[in-house]
Amino acid sequence: IKSEQIHLVDLIKEVLGLLGREAEYRNIQINLDGDGEVPPIMADKGQLQQVFLNILNNALAAVSDGGRIDINVAEHDRKRVAISIYDNGEGIKEENLKNIFEPFFSTKGEKGTGLGLSITYGIVQKMGGDIHVESKTGEGTTFRILLPRQNNTN
Ligand code: ADP
Ligand code: MG
Repeated sequence: IKSEQIHLVDLIKEVLGLLGREAEYRNIQINLDGDGEVPPIMADKGQLQQVFLNILNNALAAVSDGGRIDINVAEHDRKRVAISIYDNGEGIKEENLKNIFEPFFSTKGEKGTGLGLSITYGIVQKMGGDIHVESKTGEGTTFRILLPRQNNTN
């Protein structure tokens, strides 16, 4: 596994750069919190970009025009960093919550592959991290990710 020192806030800013046009066009407010205080982690940059691209793409798809996405990055404890990504979109139906990380599960018909979150889940697990979702229909969705600062499976 490729591994390099990564500042998560900077990496997320790069990913947001890819999505900024759509967000601006649709008047979606994206807040990124955590500048400065977050220690770097050792990880594969491309894989981490994939993690945040998948989650943020889903968040953008879930929110209405004028919606919001809040991202927070923080030191969780001495060994782990916590990232939360909230969107005030449509939310995930209770009966679908258990399926969203399964490959090919999608509620988007022709527009969805159902692969984004299964790939994301696999990357986070392989890094020795963890990912959870909390969601309520009509209120929004929060993905919470814990990532180890050092990948002990390397
Ligand atoms: P896809 O985006 O191709 O459908 P994903 O694996 O990325 O596949 O997501 C699987 C499903 O999880 C989506 O089809 C959607 O039903 C649900 N989902 C994921 N993220 C969100 C979100 N932020 N808000 C609402 N639903 C979501
Ligand atoms: Mg997706």
